Amino acid sequence: MIGPSRPLPGPDELTAPFWAAALEGRLSLQRCTACGRFNHPPVPVCPGCGSLEFSWEDVSGRGAVHSRVIVHAAHTSGFESAVPYTGLAVELDEQPGLILLSNAGPESAAAQAGDRVRVAFERVADEVVLPQFELEADG
Ligand SMILES: [Zn+2]
Repeated sequence: MIGPSRPLPGPDELTAPFWAAALEGRLSLQRCTACGRFNHPPVPVCPGCGSLEFSWEDVSGRGAVHSRVIVHAAHTSGFESAVPYTGLAVELDEQPGLILLSNAGPESAAAQAGDRVRVAFERVADEVVLPQFELEADG
């Protein structure tokens, strides 16, 4: 597991709805109300159509491994005791190219592109829950 001293996310105006939803066990993403595109991380201007109007919409939390990295060197303070750990880039089912990054448990070290994953919520502080991804049991 990642150590308790790792840095925590600092929600801002753009990302606050994402973190508030995670705290409630929901994966919610910014969605353009003009063209329907999901944007993650959230943006002030839709890269799809230039709109400034967005809503937040819960998504399935299901997707597939896009790529995987094994982190051997703790370049970020707070992760020293965690290395080596696995990072996954996950492409959600809702939209091609909709990528979320996740830490993943040791069982994910052999994950391959295309392996099925689902969201799992990890509480790392009283008011902070991280949406992470884990491999589905039967692929
Ligand atoms: Zn748009």
